[in-house]
Amino acid sequence: MTVTQGFLDNRIFQIISKAARSKGVRAFVIGGYVRDCFLGRKSKDIDIVVEGSGIELAEAVGELVRSNVTVFRNFGTAMLKYKGTEVEFVGARKESYRRDSRKPIVEDGTLEDDQQRRDFTINAMAFSLQEEDFGALVDPFGGIRDLAAGIIRTPLDPDTTYSDDPLRMIRAVRFATKLSEPGRRFTIVPESLESIRRNRNRLEILSRERIAEELDKMLVCSEPSIGFRLMEETGLLEYVLPQLCRLKGVENVDGHGHKENFTHTLEVLDNVAAAETEAIAEGRLSNFEFEDGVEVQKQRTEPYLWLRWAALLHDIGKPATKRFDKETGWTFHGHEVVGARMVPKIFKSLKMPLNEKMKYVEKLVLLHLRPISLVTEEVTDSAVRRLLFEAGNDIDDLMLLCNADITSKNPRKVERLKQNFELVGRKLAEVEAKDAIRNFKNPITGEYIMELYGIPPCRQIGELKEFVKNAILDGIIGNNFAEADVLMRKHASEMGMKPVK
Ligand code: ATP
Ligand code: MG
Repeated sequence: MTVTQGFLDNRIFQIISKAARSKGVRAFVIGGYVRDCFLGRKSKDIDIVVEGSGIELAEAVGELVRSNVTVFRNFGTAMLKYKGTEVEFVGARKESYRRDSRKPIVEDGTLEDDQQRRDFTINAMAFSLQEEDFGALVDPFGGIRDLAAGIIRTPLDPDTTYSDDPLRMIRAVRFATKLSEPGRRFTIVPESLESIRRNRNRLEILSRERIAEELDKMLVCSEPSIGFRLMEETGLLEYVLPQLCRLKGVENVDGHGHKENFTHTLEVLDNVAAAETEAIAEGRLSNFEFEDGVEVQKQRTEPYLWLRWAALLHDIGKPATKRFDKETGWTFHGHEVVGARMVPKIFKSLKMPLNEKMKYVEKLVLLHLRPISLVTEEVTDSAVRRLLFEAGNDIDDLMLLCNADITSKNPRKVERLKQNFELVGRKLAEVEAKDAIRNFKNPITGEYIMELYGIPPCRQIGELKEFVKNAILDGIIGNNFAEADVLMRKHASEMGMKPVK
């Protein structure tokens, strides 16, 4: 038994130890925190397992540190915050399962029982918080050995662990993705991979929300392709996101093949992850959020999940639009429109939010070809203004996605496209500085038109506003009230309207 130095320096561990002693129960730190200590990674939260009542111990600790305790009676857990860190308490349990349900029969248990029901050996390690062996590592399944070898293995027979809670199959993939670093892959042991293949149809009993949560966590990893490739290889992807599986394969007609769109999609996803990480480090990206109805701009500090979703789904419309033309070869005309239409269906199927985040993904999928199409055409100010208008505040994310989408086996082609792409980027910045389109607000409002012409809400108002908007975007007039007013009055008089004043 090794007693670990330094990992339990946080004062909270001494406090929990003291509270447990006075309650006459044994308490341990368990799971992600222990694993991350050995990996030298920072953990967001701390999980405490108690041989006894987790809620009672949490309440005792809450009193000592004068912190509110949130109790989840249905789950038998309780949580408190200590200096910004969430500390979660749970009673040690023994679980047994029936085949037809994920709802286990739960009984109180020992630490060992609790460790057995954990998903992986590397997640089942515990540090003792007892005075006599404070900081001792309790590792009955060789989690330390597996961590050193970069291996994901279940504590029990994988068929048992996975069929008890099938979500663990996706979690295996998620941890392989999350814990891998450049040059050091975490792998799922072969018998576990085989078991996942065998048990994959058990995913059907899971709620879609739990699946989506794991996908989200996979997507924000630094190399998310690892997870999606593993899910494809094990057959999980067919249950989770079948639309993505349809991107696989290359069809050949008269010796002409097309791009392998699954591989391409994963490459774009990783490119987005890398480019976003770099841009965040350089403070180049913002998030725009509504607070009390006003849009506020905040510097982005961590991966934006929805940009990752947009990357994953950017070509999802390709299988449905694939055509072979004798003259031009393979085409995927309109795949961005079809793809954007698929977004709400996919979000719904995974019970994901159908709100402005979904709209953002839809928009990026719809517009993902636009910046690059400017590269090949002559870049007119008016085309740039239109793009700025349609993308709005999401223009930087769109440009990042579009740049990441430049993948080709021909390095000269990539080089040329990237150079032209930079040109578009500069042009966008220039036009935006001059015309301020990304936050476009029509200088002519509906109220102004109604008052000026003494009319109620009607079709003409929309028409006049649209006319002004187009004139600004086309560069016929500047983006200001004076020019817009002159033009609007002229057009209104042509429509037979007269001001009342
Ligand atoms: P992260 O840093 O991603 O939060 P974590 O290890 O803390 O990693 P959580 O999902 O927060 O992961 O779960 C906390 C711990 O609870 C895990 O380390 C594992 O021991 C256990 N656990 C969570 N979900 C399951 C599950 N479905 N089956 C078995 N054990 C689980
Ligand atoms: Mg956690």
